[in-house]
Amino acid sequence: MKITELVPWLIRSAGSYWGEFLFVQVRTDEGISGWGEITTTTPTANRGIAAMVRQLNDLVVGDDATRIEDTWNKVFRAFTYMGSRGAGTNVTSALDIALWDIRGKALGLPVCDLLGGRVREDLLLYTHPDQHRFGTREGIVDEIRTIVDSGHTGIKFDPFPHAPGVPETNDRYLDGRMTRAEERQAMELTALIREIAGPDVDLLIDAHGRFDVPNAIRLGQALDEVGGIHWYEEPVPPESYHALEQVRDRVRTPISVGERLHTRWDFVPVFEKQLTDFAMPDVTWTGGISELKKISTMAEAYYVPMSPHDAAGPVNLVAGGHVMITVPNFYRIESSSCDLRAYNQFLTAPLDNSDGRLKLPPGPGLGLDFDLEFLRAHAQDGFHD
Ligand SMILES: [Mg+2]
Repeated sequence: MKITELVPWLIRSAGSYWGEFLFVQVRTDEGISGWGEITTTTPTANRGIAAMVRQLNDLVVGDDATRIEDTWNKVFRAFTYMGSRGAGTNVTSALDIALWDIRGKALGLPVCDLLGGRVREDLLLYTHPDQHRFGTREGIVDEIRTIVDSGHTGIKFDPFPHAPGVPETNDRYLDGRMTRAEERQAMELTALIREIAGPDVDLLIDAHGRFDVPNAIRLGQALDEVGGIHWYEEPVPPESYHALEQVRDRVRTPISVGERLHTRWDFVPVFEKQLTDFAMPDVTWTGGISELKKISTMAEAYYVPMSPHDAAGPVNLVAGGHVMITVPNFYRIESSSCDLRAYNQFLTAPLDNSDGRLKLPPGPGLGLDFDLEFLRAHAQDGFHD
């Protein structure tokens, strides 16, 4: 079975956390096609990555679609001199996920059966409130109650005020500061959400890698005072392990990192230096299904639980789910909302996240059946078949 074409599908959607979805379809000469995803956080990045996917046709068309490991290494090494982590692992991820999907479809088996089989029947989720509704107390109460009433038992949010006018901006690290007033607002919001959610819900705090060391420590210690926080995510930007080590040494609340780490090699110092309590790589960014399974096994050797950042779209969530259902050291998998209609619009059968648990869709491969007519109707010009 030969690879015949890679098609990047860039789909605009108000339901996407970042306004667009970027799917990758890999087609073969036997009529089986597989799906990957690389949805990134900005329109600029989506278009850059989509161009790289299209360029990959020159590298892999004609290759054996069953040689997943070989293809992973070929693509990964093709980008070594531009920096093998980041954009290179994003496109490697999409191709890897799609090849696993194709392999499962060809064999008539779900991907998880090719990874050692299930160690659990479904996957505990955590999810997000819509923080655009956090401007009023009523909005906060309604968002949190909706999540709890849906059966979800884990909630992640970013309580720290963002730059004026750019509430969704996560990457504007400029001075790494947070004022005393902003710190107080963040802790009051966290305490309010605990009060609404009740004592038995896991609360996860995302700092989005925005703080310098002294502020990350100060805010982490403030979370220690609130108490009962399940994790403090990305307290500092991802580039410096030394900065993370300093926060780690001074904050009692458990740490979670990994959505901006790429491949097993980025995780070596994290595990060796005991820098985190939870590992949260993203299957569509870190290197795909193959890489997520490898990182999970590394984490298992250190007794570190896995909790993938899989919040972008349906392939992201389900591909991560196929790996996690085979991984003993699993905490929770992420979904961007307890309402998955934004994902289900692409699919001929809706995903099942009832009771706050993801049930993998039945069927071979990833188990996802895309509505191609819907995709064509919503694709950006130049980014479809
Ligand atoms: Mg995060």
